[in-house]
Amino acid sequence: MTPDFVESFAALDAIPHVDAKFFGRIPGLNVSVERAEAMQRIGPYHLQLLERYGLGHFPMATAEQVHGNRLSLVTSGFTSPATGADGLITDCKGITLGIYVADCAPVWVVARDGSAGALLHSGKKGTELGIVPGAIRELCRLRDLIPNDLVVVIGPCIRTPCYEVDFAAEIRHQALATGVRKIHDQMTCTACHPELYYSYRKELGLTGRMLATLTLLPAA
Ligand SMILES: [Zn+2]
Repeated sequence: MTPDFVESFAALDAIPHVDAKFFGRIPGLNVSVERAEAMQRIGPYHLQLLERYGLGHFPMATAEQVHGNRLSLVTSGFTSPATGADGLITDCKGITLGIYVADCAPVWVVARDGSAGALLHSGKKGTELGIVPGAIRELCRLRDLIPNDLVVVIGPCIRTPCYEVDFAAEIRHQALATGVRKIHDQMTCTACHPELYYSYRKELGLTGRMLATLTLLPAA
């Protein structure tokens, strides 16, 4: 297999018992096809990557992803993909949350003590609907936290001037307004780096999807 492009984020790596990854373009795999076929082609590669990065034995919860703002609380008896949801939230250890993106932002919201986290799909529409501040409120309710107990990381997504709306900046603004202070924007534009990322806009809708993951690890 060709070398893979996998990112992790220092702000999340610093949190105890939390694993967060972003699996980018699969080198050499042709995904210039419609979504369903592209997902079918990529699926086995993602499984191999999850295995290779030590996540293979965790069940993965995904979301239907309808460009809305609904969150699904993932518990031990979860069903996947979560119907009508664009965000997954959990305080259960040993379950991987998975979100697929190609230009929309993957956003991680994680408690600084590693006790809970959310993974969100936030493009133009989801951002307008406030999925990120919604998840911040929900996490605070779930674990009796305040926003300043949380870390927010905005992953690779399309940005201006490649896209007409700077939704990553809006996500940052929204998170700040809730009281979160630790916000890290990775600042990379998916459309500017076709060798690393899939871009729905740049590839005119015929492309693959990248996989963002979040796992609360069981204590060793
Ligand atoms: Zn760009």
